[in-house]
Amino acid sequence: MHPETRLLSVSAKLSLFTTELGDLIVRGHGRATAANLMLAYRQVVPLHNEWLEGFWCDDCQQTRWWHVQRHDRVRHTLRPVAPGLWQQAAGVIHPRGNPTVSDFSRRAARANGIHGLKQFGTI
Ligand SMILES: [Zn+2]
Repeated sequence: MHPETRLLSVSAKLSLFTTELGDLIVRGHGRATAANLMLAYRQVVPLHNEWLEGFWCDDCQQTRWWHVQRHDRVRHTLRPVAPGLWQQAAGVIHPRGNPTVSDFSRRAARANGIHGLKQFGTI
């Protein structure tokens, strides 16, 4: 939204997992490979190069969570976090039925950790 503004990461990268065959197929795996992955990982497959991360924007004066997809060392895509995705993130306590946690202060994020989870660690 503010391409000229450098975003500041204020959270850990929350790894994503899936229990759905379809999630693997839309990411380019063939059906047989996807089925093998489900089997190999006992139905909980890590989604490589994808995570949820909170970024502070100085222009917006707020932190937003983004679904990050890494394409290579430089290129990343940031999308809004689809509501169901929170349940696929490692170690996340779902924030009281409100998946779009967008407005909390930088200070609060630093003081308490995002969602009050100390282990999220802030910069
Ligand atoms: Zn902004």
